[in-house]
Amino acid sequence: MQIAERGRVVDDVADQIGNTPTVDISQFSPNPDVSLFAKLESFNPTGSVKDRVALSLIDQAERDGLLVRGSGGVILEPTSGNTGIGLALIGRLRGYQVKAVMPESVSTERVQLLQGFGAEVIFSAAEKGTNESINVAKELAHENPSYFMPYQYGNKANPQSHYVATGPEIVRDVPDVDMFVAGLGTGGTLMGVGKALREHNPNAKIVAAAPHPDDKVQGLRSIEHGFIPPILDLDALDARIMVEAEESFFWTRKLLLDAGIFVGVSSGAVLASAIRAARRLESGTIVMLFADGGWKYLSTGIYTRDWSDIQNEVEGQTWW
Ligand code: PMP
Repeated sequence: MQIAERGRVVDDVADQIGNTPTVDISQFSPNPDVSLFAKLESFNPTGSVKDRVALSLIDQAERDGLLVRGSGGVILEPTSGNTGIGLALIGRLRGYQVKAVMPESVSTERVQLLQGFGAEVIFSAAEKGTNESINVAKELAHENPSYFMPYQYGNKANPQSHYVATGPEIVRDVPDVDMFVAGLGTGGTLMGVGKALREHNPNAKIVAAAPHPDDKVQGLRSIEHGFIPPILDLDALDARIMVEAEESFFWTRKLLLDAGIFVGVSSGAVLASAIRAARRLESGTIVMLFADGGWKYLSTGIYTRDWSDIQNEVEGQTWW
């Protein structure tokens, strides 16, 4: 048995951010000439891709003199959870207080993790979604000028973390990537990885998995609701594939049952999109990014629902 190269002693857990493993999951491909690979961001210290972003946002703010280590400075951020948890981790290591603004509807695990890392959770109205978290955070930042708001939706340090690390890791680990599929939240992953991949292969296709505008998939956002993050350049995307929540739940569960891959719901949405894309391609290699592990979604019950019920439900669906 081969053991992954993780056996090195590090100074603190932040040194274990990045360099995540990629798994060949071509067994899910509907096309024998298209291979599927999944990069598992659950291997980061807090279990999501956003550890990379949190580190990059804070490093940049320190370089710009907006945060000073050990100062007890306050970081305030609107987040669907993962970025807040990443910031909370780095905040503990470097002596910052973290306040995360999230819709009330987020899973209890997100709230508990944030509180566990010593962060403060500020709720925004659930029905208005993440757009409202952004409004609330902006108001609070305005009222409290000493707070630092990284603002991942508009901060170039977000896509930059993927341009300098996530993308190059994919180029290093998977030869000849034809298509990259990731969930659309801030757009940071798609923009940063997309730029790195295209520098390597100008024909690489960059595909976003987005929730159907009537549906909610934690971590993803639908631009149909009117907010386009400043860092997101829609022209840099080759396609945006809309998936239903039920479809995302189905593939999330299937990944666990058939491949032992325990991921969050946005990863199911990403796999659903990649499967549709694979049907349309003649041949090639698709790399997906699975943004987080499944731990934060246990309370939603998606991993324990009766599997035969789910299979009966999906068979009548148009996407099946
Ligand atoms: N999946 C999950 C679970 C997320 O938390 C996020 C970010 N909110 C994404 C996907 C999308 O990533 P990005 O912000 O880089 O578009």
